[in-house]
Formats: sequence, structure tokens, C-alpha cells
Amino acid sequence: MAKQWSCNEDRCGEVVTADSVDELIEKVNEHMRAAHDSYELEEMIEDAAVDVDG
Ligand SMILES: [Zn+2]
Repeated sequence: MAKQWSCNEDRCGEVVTADSVDELIEKVNEHMRAAHDSYELEEMIEDAAVDVDG
């Protein structure tokens, strides 16, 4: 099951999808580092992740 996460930073709206939670965490933190000079805790990403088809 693919996982999806949406960035909650102001006016960002980035949506990240991945094939596993581990990959999602990696991709989310790449985005957080590149776009916001920040990072997201693993448990926060897991809490916010939703299942998507595909
Ligand atoms: Zn963002």
C-alpha cells in the first residue's frame, strides 16, 4: 500500500507519496530539508501518513 503525506507549512502544499513508510520518511525529510531547512519527526510523519491506492 502506498503512503501519502502532505506538507502543512504555510503556502507549501507539497504532497509526497512513497511505496513504504521508510521511503516516505526519507522523502519527506528530503523535502523538509530542501524547502524549509527543517525536518519532521518519524512519528509525526507516520501519524500524518495516509494510505493511497497505486
Ligand atoms: Zn513543504
